[in-house]
Amino acid sequence: MTKLHRQSLVAYGQPLCETVVDCPVPRGSEILVRVERCGVCHSDLHLQDGYFALGGDKRLDITKDRALPFTLGHEIAGVIESVGEAAEGATIGRRVAIYPWIGCGTCPACSAGEENLCSAHRHLGIAVDGGFASHVLIPHPRYLLDYAPLSPVFAGPLMCSGLTAYSALKRLTSRAERSPVLLVGLGGVGMMGLALTRALFREPPIVADIDAEKRTAALAAGAAQAFDPSDPQARKAVLAATGGVLAICDFVGSDKSLQFSTGVLARGGKVVVTGLLGGNFSIAAAMIPIKAMTIEGTLTGTLADARELIDLARSGKISPIRTRDRPLSEAQAALDDLRAGRIVGRTVLSI
Ligand SMILES: [Zn+2]
Ligand SMILES: [Zn+2]
Repeated sequence: MTKLHRQSLVAYGQPLCETVVDCPVPRGSEILVRVERCGVCHSDLHLQDGYFALGGDKRLDITKDRALPFTLGHEIAGVIESVGEAAEGATIGRRVAIYPWIGCGTCPACSAGEENLCSAHRHLGIAVDGGFASHVLIPHPRYLLDYAPLSPVFAGPLMCSGLTAYSALKRLTSRAERSPVLLVGLGGVGMMGLALTRALFREPPIVADIDAEKRTAALAAGAAQAFDPSDPQARKAVLAATGGVLAICDFVGSDKSLQFSTGVLARGGKVVVTGLLGGNFSIAAAMIPIKAMTIEGTLTGTLADARELIDLARSGKISPIRTRDRPLSEAQAALDDLRAGRIVGRTVLSI
């Protein structure tokens, strides 16, 4: 019997380690995919910790959401290895990216096509074993997306960092047609946001990050201007350069990043928050109507968004972001580097 090799979370707050079990056999509409690449995402760090920081000493405990040992990894591209008898259209050998935000299929969110927001979800690498493994089991062929002629290194991360940035930018479309978007935070999602902004909107974005190397990388990738939000003059500099920003993506999601983002908004402006760094953000309540501001959160994206995004990428309109390939056995080292902020672009595990 084929063995399933995984880099498993065996205890919260502890390093991943290899576990080996028998490979599952797909039944019904299920598909077994041999993983080729799986991206490493910042949310994997929170999952490994077992909580999200809510500010002060408060934590959102997320240890109840899965059984251990558990396999992280939700940015998966692979090859169909075997299929259940009812997995229509899932041809063995087909190379696919996997939409990981799989819902229950019956709740109001799922019925509206928002499986990413399902409250009884089966999100891969979050609630159900994911892609830091040799194989992954998928419940239905509808979650498999052809990605040729893209590389699997590019296609995997499109399903989380790409999808998150795409879904956030879609929420800014009408404002982005009037003036440049500001992207705050240039990690994997932020750099993907930069590539997407170049593909979706006429004007190149302005960017902000506390890391000089990331600002340089963003300018090289087509950003119009880059600001250091840790500079006390940064807010004034952005306001002087723009007169106030209408459309902001906050890929950090911390008290500091939101202070900065809301501080440079123009009247009628909107901040879309995707980042999960945490902290406790407060704002003078009167500023919400005075600035007619919108603060909106978004969590990954829908299956329809994922299909749109893959189509956009397959048409050659999105420049691939910088990626680094590492073997699956280095999953923990990749997480450590991400936690230390040592990553520019995306790390992708090669299986
Ligand atoms: Zn992710
Ligand atoms: Zn549901």
